[in-house]
Amino acid sequence: MDKVLVFVETKGDEPRKASMEVLCEAARLAESGRFSVEAVCLGVVSDVLKNRLLRCTPKLVRLTDPELAAYSPEGYAHALAGYARQIGARMIMAGATGAGRDFLPRTAVILETGIVSDVTAANWFDDPITFVRPMFGGKVFAEVAFPASPVVVTVRPNSFAMDMPEGINGEYVEVAVGLQAGSIHTRLLRVDDTRKDAVDITEADLIVAGGRGLKAAENFKLIEDLAAVIGATVGATRSVVDAKWRDQADQIGKSGKTVSPKLYIGAGISGAIHHIMGMDSSKVIVAVNRDPNAIIFNYANYGIVGDLFEVLPAMTEEFKKQKERV
Ligand SMILES: Cc1cc2nc3c(=O)[nH]c(=O)nc-3n(C[C@H](O)[C@H](O)[C@H](O)COP(=O)(O)OP(=O)(O)OC[C@H]3O[C@@H](n4cnc5c(N)ncnc54)[C@H](O)[C@@H]3O)c2cc1C
Repeated sequence: MDKVLVFVETKGDEPRKASMEVLCEAARLAESGRFSVEAVCLGVVSDVLKNRLLRCTPKLVRLTDPELAAYSPEGYAHALAGYARQIGARMIMAGATGAGRDFLPRTAVILETGIVSDVTAANWFDDPITFVRPMFGGKVFAEVAFPASPVVVTVRPNSFAMDMPEGINGEYVEVAVGLQAGSIHTRLLRVDDTRKDAVDITEADLIVAGGRGLKAAENFKLIEDLAAVIGATVGATRSVVDAKWRDQADQIGKSGKTVSPKLYIGAGISGAIHHIMGMDSSKVIVAVNRDPNAIIFNYANYGIVGDLFEVLPAMTEEFKKQKERV
């Protein structure tokens, strides 16, 4: 059986949604009998978290070392690579979250192996396995395969279904890693958790994003009002982040975050390739722009040509009415 390691990123007592999606896919693979799966946590694992994860994986391994108390890309990479070597893992997987993108490439370097990042699908039963990842702003889909192992894989959030097989009752193991002194050159100084209750945009199912067409920071209220009614997270283009209308954490695109929601609504956004690259794998794209030739319409499933100052309040009202009817 091929051994698959899944790195589970956590936030307090909760596993990150992107990690759970990968864990669900891995659990389905384990059912096939061809793969054996272990989930790996680094850092603190509370009893609540442990009990939750043991229903999702046949084996939960916590890698321990005093250096792993706080997140450290070097420490995490060395610990995960060391354990992968120890058990002869064929594949190391993680969600393409901030941490996943940060330290999984380092893990691949330590293992002197290849990485395929931002995977949206895979043909697990091909030999070798082929992974699909969007490139050039979603214009082409690359199929990537590795003749050798292990393979390091990061998965774009919202790519795999959150559909956990029932009846899993895993075992919990702690493994001391023994990180070498001097292998960590960076130290975490402080954590800015002012946005700790906000849904991370990379994991949001619904996003309402605004661009420079909103004209001023205070007009983002139109975006926030619509987002609040449908339970969406607010996103932004780089132009508005640069103008300090929104926090950098909201930025979608090449130099921001990659999102893959079920529904993306973008208003006052032109559709520059740098923005499109961050949202092209959204399942349904709705664009509002007063310019009928705006590039974003080339990517939209539904396009509304009109003034966002009229369209957004009308959409918010309509969604409110729909909700009242239910
Ligand atoms: C290296 C690099 C990296 C970059 N990374 C990113 C990135 O990560 N994310 C990102 O977003 N950008 C990024 N950019 C910038 C990107 O190229 C664009 O400049 C930016 O996305 C444009 O933002 P926008 O659509 O908000 O503004 P604009 O391009 O100015 O578009 C505003 C749109 O609003 C419409 N509009 C105006 N008024 C109204 C109205 N009343 N009603 C309806 N529509 C209206 C206009 O027709 C227009 O289409 C990057 C650029 C570079 C060079």
